[in-house]
Amino acid sequence: MDYKKYIKSVQDFPNKGINFRDITSLLQEGPVYKSAIDDLAEFAKDRGAETVVGPEARGFVIGGPLAYSLGVGFVPVRKPGKLPREVATVSYEKEYGLDELCIHKDSIKPGQRVLVIDDLLATGGTIEATIKLVKRLGGVIAGVAFLIELTELGGRKLLSDYDVLSLIEF
Ligand code: 5GP
Repeated sequence: MDYKKYIKSVQDFPNKGINFRDITSLLQEGPVYKSAIDDLAEFAKDRGAETVVGPEARGFVIGGPLAYSLGVGFVPVRKPGKLPREVATVSYEKEYGLDELCIHKDSIKPGQRVLVIDDLLATGGTIEATIKLVKRLGGVIAGVAFLIELTELGGRKLLSDYDVLSLIEF
């Protein structure tokens, strides 16, 4: 399916100079949303994914239905202070300083095959931090998938060790 035409681009959001790729215009089209999840699920199934891990917040909107479709668990990766039980934490570089992401320590079994998902790959910082958390818990990266990849930002360079799928490229 031609998913690209369902993504609205919003100039100067959230800050001046940024051309924001809005996924909500795709999500609101039921059959398109379903087809995108089905395509991601095929990729994940082919790689033997046993669980799905995705960062907040838009990673949940893709990762939740993906996990449901595969019949496997979904593990949220969140900002500090949001997860109620014991967490592993990783720091990563953002445009303006450091940020942190957390995962529940008991959410992945050592050796478990993990499909890592987010809505969009830009510089790759978010997904790299998410992968670090998965590996720290002993998970094996089965694949990494996105709805959208912003190719010019070169995030894929950080993912050269993995099978990567993006359904839409800008
Ligand atoms: P990165 O860490 O790869 O630089 O940025 C990717 C993260 O920022 C993703 O979690 C994604 O949700 C968010 N993000 C950055 N730019 C955009 C954008 O244009 N559209 C959407 N939907 N998310 C973005």
